[in-house]
Amino acid sequence: MERTLSIVKPDGVQKHLIGEVIKRFEDDGLKVVGLKMISMDKKEAEGFYSVHRGKPFYESLTTFMSSGPVVVMALEGEGAISKTRELMGATDHKQAKEGTLRRQYATNIERNVVHGSDALETAAFEIKYFFNSLEMFEY
Ligand code: UDP
Ligand code: MG
Repeated sequence: MERTLSIVKPDGVQKHLIGEVIKRFEDDGLKVVGLKMISMDKKEAEGFYSVHRGKPFYESLTTFMSSGPVVVMALEGEGAISKTRELMGATDHKQAKEGTLRRQYATNIERNVVHGSDALETAAFEIKYFFNSLEMFEY
């Protein structure tokens, strides 16, 4: 069964969207198999987004991601990666489909409410970045 990592970003937490994001995922058949609220420091945010190091938005993105608490979750289900990304919508909320989380709730291309892994390898890396084996569940 496929697993992915999602984050309710600092803007999503500020906008009281934790429950809404989880509900969208659960309603689409995804199972929450790991869940916690954390606050990343700058270094932790940089490590998480290391694939984007060097890009023009990296500095601002990692400052934003370490600006307040976030909710990280591991999700399990058939096609979990693509399902999650479908529900999130495109990175740029203006390009995102009607009804997607980012289309509905994002402030701008950076403050776009939610993160979702984009491939099997990145999902494995990202889940391990936040969860140890005692914090992941099968049920
Ligand atoms: N981002 C940004 N400006 C850009 C592209 C991305 O601020 O031009 C931010 C945005 O918060 C995005 C994150 O960087 O969610 C990671 O970018 P990625 O291309 O991986 O988009 P995602 O996979 O989150 O849709
Ligand atoms: Mg990405």
